[in-house]
Amino acid sequence: MIPQTILIIEDEERIAHWVQSYFRRAGFQTQVARNGHTGLDMVWKEKPDLIVLDLMLPGLDGWALCKQVRRNSDVPIIMLTARDAQQDRVSGLEMGADDYVVKPFDLEELVARTRAVLRRVAGTIAEQLTVGELSIHLGTNTCIVRGTTVSLTRTQLALMTAFMRHPNQILNRDQLLDIAFNNDFEGFDRSIDAHIRRLRHKIEPNPSQPQYILTVYGLGYKFVT
Ligand code: CA
Repeated sequence: MIPQTILIIEDEERIAHWVQSYFRRAGFQTQVARNGHTGLDMVWKEKPDLIVLDLMLPGLDGWALCKQVRRNSDVPIIMLTARDAQQDRVSGLEMGADDYVVKPFDLEELVARTRAVLRRVAGTIAEQLTVGELSIHLGTNTCIVRGTTVSLTRTQLALMTAFMRHPNQILNRDQLLDIAFNNDFEGFDRSIDAHIRRLRHKIEPNPSQPQYILTVYGLGYKFVT
């Protein structure tokens, strides 16, 4: 199993180090950012499985960072909040954090909460994935598009899952072919463009002018939200 990566965004070196070494011993990979802007860059570059986010950070603070992350990503976030700042916790959860621990915190508790959040997220992803106006339900091979349920073939579902797990990223034809053919029992159509065309007919309001799955000429396709 590939170890999961935790991004720790914490400006206090002592705490960052302490948290990092505990997570490592617990079997996680870790990355540390010491300010908000670096942290936000690393969220996009390193694609961590979970973020441990201190609220009081120089530059971009934890609330602003959380808000920016949530525009494009559902990566789980656990906030580190100050002892008496009840308001911090409430606004943190409103900003889209998944959980919080109160400083000074117990590392065992932080790791236990991390595992609980990761388990919860894995359960949700296994059944359902929602991005913007679209959600897919893996158990039933369906996609709900702006309230309307459409059924997808296995290949279409696999492609849609890949797109929705990588929103706003270009996926090239080779990557999409791999995904399609791992799931493909639909005959002889080896053209990814044909699969995409049929998928667009199911989910796009106007398939000739796609708004979700865009063609990026010479590179591949991009799912936009
Ligand atoms: Ca701090």
